[in-house]
Amino acid sequence: MKQRILTGDRPTGRLHLGHYVGSLANRVSLQEKYETFILIADVQALTDHFEHPEILRKNIREVVKDYLSVGIDPKTSTILLQSMVPEIAELSVYFLNLVTVARLQRNPTVKDEMQQKGFEQNLPAGFLVYPVHQAADITIFKADMVPVGKDQLPMIEQTVEIVRRFNALYGEVLIEPEAHVGEFPRLPGTDGQTKMSKTMGNAIYLSDDAKTVEAKVMKMYTDPTRLRSTDPGHLEGNPVFTYHDAFNADKEQVDELKERYVKGKVGDVEVKRILAKALNAFLDPIRERRLRFEGNEVEIDDILIEGTRRARLVAKETMDQVRRAMKLDYHLQAREQTKI
Ligand code: ATP
Ligand code: MG
Repeated sequence: MKQRILTGDRPTGRLHLGHYVGSLANRVSLQEKYETFILIADVQALTDHFEHPEILRKNIREVVKDYLSVGIDPKTSTILLQSMVPEIAELSVYFLNLVTVARLQRNPTVKDEMQQKGFEQNLPAGFLVYPVHQAADITIFKADMVPVGKDQLPMIEQTVEIVRRFNALYGEVLIEPEAHVGEFPRLPGTDGQTKMSKTMGNAIYLSDDAKTVEAKVMKMYTDPTRLRSTDPGHLEGNPVFTYHDAFNADKEQVDELKERYVKGKVGDVEVKRILAKALNAFLDPIRERRLRFEGNEVEIDDILIEGTRRARLVAKETMDQVRRAMKLDYHLQAREQTKI
């Protein structure tokens, strides 16, 4: 039997270059070898978007198109919508007993995001417990591996703890997952912030057209200590060069640019122009594939419905085992008798 992968994205916006190097590239290369489940986490996204659910609704199809455009094959990989698998919510409720509030408050990603979203004063309970929800996403599909960006490592750690606690209390039902981070575990934003993010306005999207990419690159943050193109430049903490490393296929050109940059022999404008060209060359085949699905809403919905149906069968099977292990299997009888 093939090992399983579970990954996902919040439908808070279209997917960007950070998603590609952090997680999407791995999903594409591993989808044949692993039985892959890709979850669109609309319920999780509600934890910080509950006032604007229309944003999530609008982006679900866009995220599916992003998957298809990078080469996720819906016949091989199962793409599912979280809110349409209510078993995940049920498992989350059981998991809530296995984790303390203090432990959740110590989760470094939750801490960072609370600060970023201004939740320090008025923390919604749903936001604090989203790592528990994520543990349910992963374990309900019995995933062995989770391809994620670096910001998600604390979530996998938390999941492993919950699995150990569950299995120790109720018997070996759940599987301890392993994280698998991409080649660039945290791609910086165009503004030089440590993480490119949909909600921070510092992203280059997989679906951006060539002109938009060029405009975003020309406005990018570079070395702030460099006032003239003859000043020696710094490569470290300079996202322009991080992107060159990640996306420019011409490695010789990148080495040569770096050499000239640190010596003050090339201007930022030239380095950026070359980067915009390299990014557009990388994005062209992705754009082309995306075009095939543009305006094809029925096909997108069919992919999502079929994936969710397949995923729900797996989730139901796990939940039968979970309820039996937790001695809640009287539910099964009650269900039959009440014909729910
Ligand atoms: P949001 O700002 O709404 O949280 P996001 O850009 O962080 O959006 P998510 O949907 O939260 O995107 O993350 C989906 C996956 O992509 C996760 O595995 C995450 O680690 C990975 N990822 C997101 N941004 C980056 C990045 N800049 N570099 C590497 N991986 C990333
Ligand atoms: Mg995120």
